Amino acid sequence: MATYKIAVLPGDGIGQEVTPEAERVLATVGKHAGVSFEFERALIGGAAIDATGHPLPDETLRLCRASNAILFGAVGGPKWDDAPHEKRPERGLLAVRKELDLYANLRPARCFPMLVDASPLKRSIVEGTDLMVIRELTGGLYFGEPRGVEKLADGGTRAINTMAYTSREVERVARVAFDVARKRRRRLTSVDKVNVLVVSQLWREVVTRVGKDYPDVTLDHLLVDNCAMALVQRPTGFDTIVTENTFGDILSDEAAILAGSMGMLPSASLGGAVGLYEPVHGTAPDIAGKGIANPIAAILSAAMLLRYSFDMTKDADRIDAAVLQVLEAGHRTADIAPRGSRVTGTKEMGDLIVRALEAQY
Ligand code: NAD
Repeated sequence: MATYKIAVLPGDGIGQEVTPEAERVLATVGKHAGVSFEFERALIGGAAIDATGHPLPDETLRLCRASNAILFGAVGGPKWDDAPHEKRPERGLLAVRKELDLYANLRPARCFPMLVDASPLKRSIVEGTDLMVIRELTGGLYFGEPRGVEKLADGGTRAINTMAYTSREVERVARVAFDVARKRRRRLTSVDKVNVLVVSQLWREVVTRVGKDYPDVTLDHLLVDNCAMALVQRPTGFDTIVTENTFGDILSDEAAILAGSMGMLPSASLGGAVGLYEPVHGTAPDIAGKGIANPIAAILSAAMLLRYSFDMTKDADRIDAAVLQVLEAGHRTADIAPRGSRVTGTKEMGDLIVRALEAQY
């Protein structure tokens, strides 16, 4: 029997409430799919700062490296807002991404049929949306050198960030994107700003070259400004999108509103040997500790973990189907419930999904 070790890092706030539900769902899969999952918990973020003084203790990083995948919750909260830069909870997550070379961030945005009315966009536009944004995560404008602030002779100030990519950095994220598109509807849109940026010229050149190795995937290119418009005009026209760090940051948040609620959005960060899976949302201090957070984003992240780290496609599909079934039966956490309707808590939603999943085996 295959044995997989999964590092579980719940983090802070509702991360501690939704991650155990995702873990329970994975344990249910393990029971039925003939694989053994070994879960080991570790501290990260604010919880780690409180216990050890560091947002990413060495022990946690060691565990991540020794695991086959990482199930992550969320980090941060008002308690640590005034901490110095290096002692802030989010440094823990950024450090894990860097240490594990997680250069491709996958964010699906899917409009569930029964939640169409939770989207701020018209039904006729969002219905049927099922797309994936792949954002390059470790290069580009956020990391390029030189960066900094300098005083000028005229008394003014100049601030610099640099958008820079090497062909190797573009090629590796392009390969992830083509591989993902292959598991979806085999259409990839590469987004850039080729009319203005030389970085985009390299980006487009490399993606086109890599595309020759994937003749079964249809590749097209789109300018980032056009993409921003198209996402809210005809989101159903997209399958898989790949783009650089800053563009991806903005476009993936725009795509997020198509799905209706933050509580529904999973994500994966891939690249190095160990993938990291986490809900897109943060620690939600406004509802933390109340047992009302929506665990679906975390549970769908667990499904991505099976799909992308362990190639357990059928079991990932079963989780997706269980979530859909529970929603179809009318169960809703507070964030997606119509005003005045009955509301399901975090644990109860986890129970319902586990039960629906059990019934699929
Ligand atoms: P947030 O995602 O935590 O919350 C935004 C809003 O969405 C809140 O009203 C919240 O109640 C709601 N929400 C989020 N997830 C929900 C869920 N699962 N169920 C129901 N409602 C949900 O974003 P924020 O308020 O901007 O940030 C709060 C803290 O989280 C900050 O400290 C921030 O730095 C941190 N954060 C962490 C991550 C991460 O760890 N990856 C990501 C984003 C924000």
